[in-house]
Amino acid sequence: MSDTIDTLLSEHRTFPPSAEFRAQANANDVGIYERAFHNPTGFWEEWAEKLDWFEKWHTTVEFTAPNAKWFLGGKLNACYNCVDRHAIGDRANKAAIIFEGEPGDSRTITFAEMKDEVSRIANALKSLGVKKGDRVAIYLPMVPELPMTMLACARIGAPHTVVFGGFSADSLQERCNDATVKVIVTADGGWRRGGVVQLKKITDEAMDLGCHTVEKVLVLERTGEKPGPVTMVANRDIAWNDLVPQQSADCPCEPMDAEDLLYILYTSGSTGKPKGITHTTGGYMVGVSATSKLVFDHKEDDIHFCTADCGWVTGHSYITYGPLCNGTTVLVYEGAPDTPDKDRFWRIIEKHRATILYTAPTAIRTFMKWGDEYPIRCDLSSLRLLGSVGEPINPEAWMWYHTIIGAEKLPVVDTWWQTETGAIMITALPGITTTKPGSATHPFPGIRVKVLDEEGNGVDVAGPHAVNTPKGGFLVLDYPWPSMTRGIYNDPERYQKTYWSKFPNTYFAGDGIKLDEEGYLWLLGRVDDIMLVAGHNISTMEVESALVDHPAVAEAAVIGKTHDVKGQAIAAFVILRSNYSGSEELIKELKAHVAHKIGAIARPDDLFLCAELPKTRSGKIMRRLLRDVAEGRALGDTTTLADPSVVASLKDKYENSEG
Ligand code: ATP
Ligand code: MG
Repeated sequence: MSDTIDTLLSEHRTFPPSAEFRAQANANDVGIYERAFHNPTGFWEEWAEKLDWFEKWHTTVEFTAPNAKWFLGGKLNACYNCVDRHAIGDRANKAAIIFEGEPGDSRTITFAEMKDEVSRIANALKSLGVKKGDRVAIYLPMVPELPMTMLACARIGAPHTVVFGGFSADSLQERCNDATVKVIVTADGGWRRGGVVQLKKITDEAMDLGCHTVEKVLVLERTGEKPGPVTMVANRDIAWNDLVPQQSADCPCEPMDAEDLLYILYTSGSTGKPKGITHTTGGYMVGVSATSKLVFDHKEDDIHFCTADCGWVTGHSYITYGPLCNGTTVLVYEGAPDTPDKDRFWRIIEKHRATILYTAPTAIRTFMKWGDEYPIRCDLSSLRLLGSVGEPINPEAWMWYHTIIGAEKLPVVDTWWQTETGAIMITALPGITTTKPGSATHPFPGIRVKVLDEEGNGVDVAGPHAVNTPKGGFLVLDYPWPSMTRGIYNDPERYQKTYWSKFPNTYFAGDGIKLDEEGYLWLLGRVDDIMLVAGHNISTMEVESALVDHPAVAEAAVIGKTHDVKGQAIAAFVILRSNYSGSEELIKELKAHVAHKIGAIARPDDLFLCAELPKTRSGKIMRRLLRDVAEGRALGDTTTLADPSVVASLKDKYENSEG
């Protein structure tokens, strides 16, 4: 960016927390920000005290950019904190996991049962030769055994790397080799849209490609007879049922150093080759337990439904480690949101009386496209809080979420964070913050954010204080927090170069952000995507939001395309809502709508109606590929795409429609 981002859209709707919500909220005193600001170490220590430690830490934090260490000298075990300490007393018979399979099967696992099962899995891994420090890859569908295997690894001190079940053999192989994995835990298959994703078969392909350090493959049976029995390789593959049930339900929790590796997780790859992000034990557990409690307002009887897969960081922090650490029940769903019908999420909420829903803007926009009738015909009255993560949420998607799912009364928390940050960094606190649709609002207590321009000048933001210096620029953090990544696995140089080199001693996340005059933060998307149009930096997010604001539009992706005169011209790819059909008039009207909402400078030159957009497997729009399409280039790396045929057919249609 040559300059700061021109901030175009303005949003004036505000939603204060209701008096009832505020009264019962875990955080309802705005003083929490002030206290955490003046003594962040003390703030995090208070949260650390709530964990169970085998040995207390002697030093809270040591930080020399880019390396941070937290709770030095402390010894603890993440599994002990998520399982064992709840498996006694009142919580022993409380549900830890409520599971809904795509075919409609469900299971409830109590904390006491989970302790036994996790211990058996841990002993099974040990019997396969896994020792403290060895890496285990987990390539499972979203069944309870997925978070339980993560916890079993944590129990014996073996860092896990979860590979999303939608990834190919190449991706699995690449991750196993990068993390020098000893054992892969997989399943015969998982259910997806009524079909079977054949995980074991893909694992076999990955092994054939060469996973040089993998010695054993443990195979869970999930789909059984469909599509047929899997092949088992002698001396390498072991059926779960032949090993795990036979194990003792007694397995001690390994005392881990606070700075011992808990897991490696590869980023979702929106911007290129995935990075092996590391998280250690103490600081990570402090970050995820504190944010779970305050952002999701977890109470003893909550049922937390996070729709992410454990293959992404959201499933690590806000299905497995955060909620379970606090003894909260989590609802786990295996399959697609439209199987057997487009109301599946709402049916699950109705059936299991979920109280908290945490999902992604891409899902919300899809629900908008499908139509309101699906949620409206279900009983969503158990819900009391809604959350969003993964991409900027457009104000209209926020309003739909609030109105249709939240019955106009539930708090909506938009949470900004990354695989690298481990835990939520920018968010509303639902009992305190007056929200604005589309704004992630304020840094979490104890977190300090900066908005910088290219020269490194900018403003500090901590908490909800009004400012008079609105600013658009780079989102950076220069103050350590407990759950920050400890780096890229085995690649400190890439870590330094990717995140810590743009500004000295400062973590740069890759995202653009603006601070408004009332001190609210608005995520503008990735800075690589920001468009330079006739000398103005325009965020893709704002133009997309203006498009989604039109009643005909379900989803939009905007990019800057090279232009002789303007530098870049705006090209928009638009998906219509299901009850609209495309026409020349509508295209004109949509362009005019953008010009009307945010100014003529942002009027798209090209507007292309399409049925689908290229997305990563975690559902994020891949704008760099749309730039390739619009500029008539060969497509860049498409390996992290959910469905490579989408962008290929888009390229075809785009090239044939242009004129
Ligand atoms: P890669 O780093 O490999 O390109 P990725 O950044 O998509 O992949 P994640 O760590 O899963 O991988 O996603 C973090 C990114 O998601 C953030 O940097 C940001 O761009 C986006 N994001 C997450 N939550 C929000 C949010 N609430 N508002 C805006 N953007 C968000
Ligand atoms: Mg990223």
